[in-house]
Amino acid sequence: MGYPGPTSRSAELYERALRRIVGAVNSPARSYAAVGLPYPVFIARGQGAYLWDVDGNRYIDYLAAFAPGILGHAHPEIVETIARAAADGTLFGTPTPYEVELAERLQAAIPSLERVRLVSTGTEAVMSAVRVARAFTGRPKVVKFEGCYHGHSDFALIRAGSGPATLGQPDSAGIPESTAAEVIVVPYNDAAALEAALERWGDQVAAVLIEPIVGNMGIVLPEPGYLQAVRDLTHRHGALLIFDEVITAFRVTYGGAQNVLGVEPDLTTLGKAIGGGLPLGAYGGRADVMDRVAPLGPAYQAGTLAGNPLSVRVALKALDILGRPGVYEELDRKGRYLAEGVLAAARRHGFAAQVNRMASGFTLFFTDRPVRDYASASTASKELFARFFREMLGRGVLLAPSRFEAWFVQIPHSQADLDETLAAADAALAAMAA
Ligand code: PLP
Repeated sequence: MGYPGPTSRSAELYERALRRIVGAVNSPARSYAAVGLPYPVFIARGQGAYLWDVDGNRYIDYLAAFAPGILGHAHPEIVETIARAAADGTLFGTPTPYEVELAERLQAAIPSLERVRLVSTGTEAVMSAVRVARAFTGRPKVVKFEGCYHGHSDFALIRAGSGPATLGQPDSAGIPESTAAEVIVVPYNDAAALEAALERWGDQVAAVLIEPIVGNMGIVLPEPGYLQAVRDLTHRHGALLIFDEVITAFRVTYGGAQNVLGVEPDLTTLGKAIGGGLPLGAYGGRADVMDRVAPLGPAYQAGTLAGNPLSVRVALKALDILGRPGVYEELDRKGRYLAEGVLAAARRHGFAAQVNRMASGFTLFFTDRPVRDYASASTASKELFARFFREMLGRGVLLAPSRFEAWFVQIPHSQADLDETLAAADAALAAMAA
């Protein structure tokens, strides 16, 4: 156990990767730069709640692949489904019976999805939903919220959270000023700021795009009445409301966070958990809006791999498993147990800390302030988080390498795993306090 040293296979693979893969990672969020380590662990395989790196170290996995992981690794029913689906062929370029069933089941789980389109990633889902909103309203601008992340399409990277914030690049290079000019960014949990923005630009705003519960400045919950105020303001100004549920759907509950928050958007974007570990995204919502998408309407959106049968059949199996009685109650119980335990340990060792939790996902912020928006999330100590990450990794617990991410509890995490994790956290925090 422990961070693999300079003669490890992880270190060796990193050197090789650096020569051919940009920065040695295929997504910048996977870099360990923000946590002060020279290279990330290279994972060879996973089983249930555990990952093993190429040097044979075992980690209890709360990274959960940045949220999709709920079922755990190599779930036997998923493995069997993949084998069966692969034997039937993986890509046809035609409609399939599986995607019809998935569209029906998504609508049954999230009633606002009157029409849906399957895509391959969350980025595509959001990019496409915004295009449709622009096509429907004939307006150019989008309102988004400081610290929310919606993938890496141009408009979405204007002051985004999580990966870009960790790298200190709220705005990416390569995005034209003209794109930034169509994006209005306001603080989350501040209805007055949104109202002021819509008073000023409302007749140009196609959509207000929001994570109904934020996952990308760490977990941040909407304050009571906030999302209803957002809904009312969009109605008043004729803008569509898009809920980006790429993280929240099938994480907070079976269906969307909208099912429990009691506010219905016009459009919803999905990704991460719905694919059961394979690439799959979706967007959908009101029929009159979605019917503007090609081939019915003028808003073009397409995909060679969209709705590929392998991902879709795995998604159907994932929904079967997630829909079983008690799954979300148990995830919630484990999330609460761990979140409360970690917070208590941090405070016991004298650290100012906060926990924000949505069911089985939570963030530990090293700050003395309640975290309700990006400004307060940014007060969380980078240094303390980095140290905590390293101490946990060295004790066999894998977290996301950013203070703006979350821990995600998965179905196979056992009580013994949770207790081992709390013991590791206690020891990590003791070492930090020493
Ligand atoms: N929307 C949200 C809320 C996300 O958290 C993410 C990814 O982290 C995305 C969209 C983009 O999804 P993907 O990385 O699958 O393109």
